[in-house]
Amino acid sequence: MCAACSRLGGQRKSLLMSRIASILLPMPLPEAFDYAEPDGMGLEVGDQVAAPLGPRLVHGVVTALREAAGGNRPLKPVEALLDAPRLPPNTLEFVQWAARYAVDWPGQPLAIALRGARAPKPRPVKVLELTGQAPQRLTPARSKVLQAAAVQALAPAELARAAGVSTGVVKALVDEGVLAVRVIEAQARFDDPDPSRPGAQLNASQAAAAGALKAMLAESGFNVALLDGVTGSGKTEVYLEAAAAALAADPAAQVLILLPEIALTQAVIARVTERFGAPPGEWHSDVPPPARRRVWDAVAGGRCRIVVGARSALFLPFPDLKLIVVDEEHDASFKQEEGFIYHARDLAVVRAKIEGAGVVLASATPSLETLRNAETGRYRWLRLSGRHGIAQLPQISLIDLRETPPEQGRWLSPPLVEAMGETFQRGEQTLLFLNRRGYAPLVLCKACGQRMTAPDTDSWLVEHRYSGRLVCHLTGFSMPKPRICPHCGAHDSLVSIGPGVERVEEEARQLFPDARVSVFSSDTIFDAREAKRMIEAMADGHIDILVATQAAAKGHNFPNLTLVGVVDADLGLRGGDLRAAERTYQLLAQATGRAGRRDRPGRALLQTYAPEHAVMQALVAQDRDAFVAAEMAEREMAGLPPFGRLAAVVVSGLDPAALETFVRAMAQAAPNTDGVAIYGPADAPLGLIRGRRRKRFLVRADRTVDLSAYMATWRARVKPPASVRVAIDIDPYSFL
Ligand code: ADP
Repeated sequence: MCAACSRLGGQRKSLLMSRIASILLPMPLPEAFDYAEPDGMGLEVGDQVAAPLGPRLVHGVVTALREAAGGNRPLKPVEALLDAPRLPPNTLEFVQWAARYAVDWPGQPLAIALRGARAPKPRPVKVLELTGQAPQRLTPARSKVLQAAAVQALAPAELARAAGVSTGVVKALVDEGVLAVRVIEAQARFDDPDPSRPGAQLNASQAAAAGALKAMLAESGFNVALLDGVTGSGKTEVYLEAAAAALAADPAAQVLILLPEIALTQAVIARVTERFGAPPGEWHSDVPPPARRRVWDAVAGGRCRIVVGARSALFLPFPDLKLIVVDEEHDASFKQEEGFIYHARDLAVVRAKIEGAGVVLASATPSLETLRNAETGRYRWLRLSGRHGIAQLPQISLIDLRETPPEQGRWLSPPLVEAMGETFQRGEQTLLFLNRRGYAPLVLCKACGQRMTAPDTDSWLVEHRYSGRLVCHLTGFSMPKPRICPHCGAHDSLVSIGPGVERVEEEARQLFPDARVSVFSSDTIFDAREAKRMIEAMADGHIDILVATQAAAKGHNFPNLTLVGVVDADLGLRGGDLRAAERTYQLLAQATGRAGRRDRPGRALLQTYAPEHAVMQALVAQDRDAFVAAEMAEREMAGLPPFGRLAAVVVSGLDPAALETFVRAMAQAAPNTDGVAIYGPADAPLGLIRGRRRKRFLVRADRTVDLSAYMATWRARVKPPASVRVAIDIDPYSFL
């Protein structure tokens, strides 16, 4: 129970009542529950309330109100109307739509929508006000304070700063009774963004795209545009122009900019602040709860007009949302895979439709789903030609590891090492990209050959040298690296196989002892502030060689970076699923796109064992269109997305026999519908996670099928035993 609700215990309202309130609770329950509205409470749809659930009081939202017909069974009354902003009707509609689409309980997305509403409020602040009493003497410094205090009640230090005087002057005026302290609720103050401030001088291609976006927004109503331009073409400047147009057209308009990684939010926040003269609201999991509450309340109150955030920002209670930008729209990080499963890009389009807002999907390597919508004319397609200014795309070449392998026990091949040496000599920077955290992805015993695995999960433990531990990347389980093999008892027999970023860092340090080498991965960078510091250090030239996972390989501008080395270009292709080639292409195009973003030409070297692979060839030729055409043709033949639809079902259980019986019954219960094929049940590739065995179904459907409705019907036909869990994943991105 939240603190607000617990304080209300005991203050029961009068039980005279005439209306029934449906209240949705932010928890996994099948529907909203009915409560009686106490007389005089005056509820409205969207109100946040406290309501009894069993012995507890819980926080919920009113979704409907109706007159009570006589003869109904008595209902429990709503306990209290909370002093909190109302959820706008569109936000509620969006929450309910999202739940239906995902075949999940509506309380799940509601819990995301209320995340900030339930956080503790920021502490009240003390401000100084003029009392009306005249000062005993009036010096120039004191006059400045009185003038500043007349404009706005400010905290003592802020008032001193605004008046340009020392805090002593302010304190003396308080002591004299000229100023008095007032304690106020810390209302979120978000300065109004100023869309009339000048933006960058756009080049012709940018100006054309910005013009088209402004025209789209002027039409008003729901519209989607794909902003398609190579890395460094200046897409951010273009969508900021669109944001300016939306803000200027309507003084209440709100804009949401979604980014796939927390590490990217800082740079965009800085650019938004510069462009509009006011910082936007920031929303992601690293934002502390009171700050989230500030943003949530201000968004609901229309006082925060621009939000820059990660995927869950999509559930904020915007009353006047007019534009959503999804930057790096192709990025798989927009897919939330745990708890409530959703894809923020797809839901952004849905939310915009409900709001009657515009959407800009920006990418250098758009997803096939979005490209298909652009090709068929559902989305407008705006293409930027080339990089901004004199910057050129990097020259991309392949290093065939079969011909020029690295030395024994090393991971960087001679041509890459040579290029790094030249780059370092010129005082320029290198980015080594390897999408693998830790030191080594696999540890095995050279005496008995056994691999070190997690105790309750089908995964190999990854060695991390910084922490000296073996870690399961799926569950977070970790243990110190043992001296003795747990399988055969041999001493000092464990060897590290393969490279992770920490190992490549070690090699780079050995090769270039004078170079400043750093690692950027989620193990070394814990929060948004640390990420910002590292990115600034790189941008300011304080690092010579940065070894990074994808966390640093996307979106950033490093002016002095001229060489990108991809340590293992084939990594994403192994164990390939539906999107393996597409994802590899996108990731490598992003990573190589970091090179040569200013006046110095850049190059990228890709280490591969498969230089003939279509992905490698497309990257070298910088021929995205040919690659996309070939991928589209394959998907079309197989009826796979974007030409068909997929859903996955993961069924997991602690008891293998009960699981087996249930998945068989589930297979039997599948509705028979034209245009739907079911594959499975099969053992999931990750057959065991946290002690739970896992089985999967994959469902393929024609585009005309309402796959969510189909899955809901199927699920309603079976009742899993308590030990079995069923998770439905519409439009799956993971097949593990
Ligand atoms: P993208 O988002 O397409 O990767 P950015 O918007 O980050 O590209 O632009 C790349 C770089 O070029 C940035 O440093 C940006 O400030 C600069 N830039 C882009 N457009 C302009 C412009 N019209 N005038 C000046 N600088 C620009």
